[in-house]
Amino acid sequence: MDTTAIQRALVALGYSLAVDDVMGPKTRAALQTFQRGSGLAADGVVGPLTISALDAALARKSAPASAIFTLPRTKRRIDEIIIHCTATPEGRGVSVETIRGWHKAQGWKDIGYHWVVLLDGTVKPGRPEAEIGSHVAGHNTGTLGVVYVGGVAADGKTAKDTRTPAQRAALLSHVKALIARYPTIKRVTGHNQYANKACPSFDVRKDELGHLI
Ligand SMILES: [Zn+2]
Repeated sequence: MDTTAIQRALVALGYSLAVDDVMGPKTRAALQTFQRGSGLAADGVVGPLTISALDAALARKSAPASAIFTLPRTKRRIDEIIIHCTATPEGRGVSVETIRGWHKAQGWKDIGYHWVVLLDGTVKPGRPEAEIGSHVAGHNTGTLGVVYVGGVAADGKTAKDTRTPAQRAALLSHVKALIARYPTIKRVTGHNQYANKACPSFDVRKDELGHLI
């Protein structure tokens, strides 16, 4: 893969950089973020592991976003989407199964969220939409919970909006698709609007997500 091909791949994955065939600081920083999000050493060097991770991410990206909506649409009334973060350190990959394990350990029947946005922008189903979630005390009925992996700085405690470019794009397009799927949705909010918590580590009201309806 030459530098131009790598830059094109990073742009296609949502990173903002110029395709100029020069491995400058912006390209290297994007590559390192991608490597970190893929669980690789963030050395900014394009080795075979990084190339296969880029190929795999591009293949997933080209799969139709609507594929996830082959899952059944629920008949329960949905009037709100609530955004969360996993409160895990920046760059650490967390799977749906891991989150499910945390929530089951708390005695819940399943993962509390309906959708999970991974570091590379892949959107995975969590609890079926037909089931009332377990993500905001007092606001689970009539809502869907969408979580992105991250939300805490590398120190493991400081709240930080750690969304990768791919996560930002995926979160936005997924929420738009959910709004289209459930026309009864009236608002998109963040967990921190209902609880004294940092989650999702940004103010949805000041984000594009809060202005889609
Ligand atoms: Zn939350």
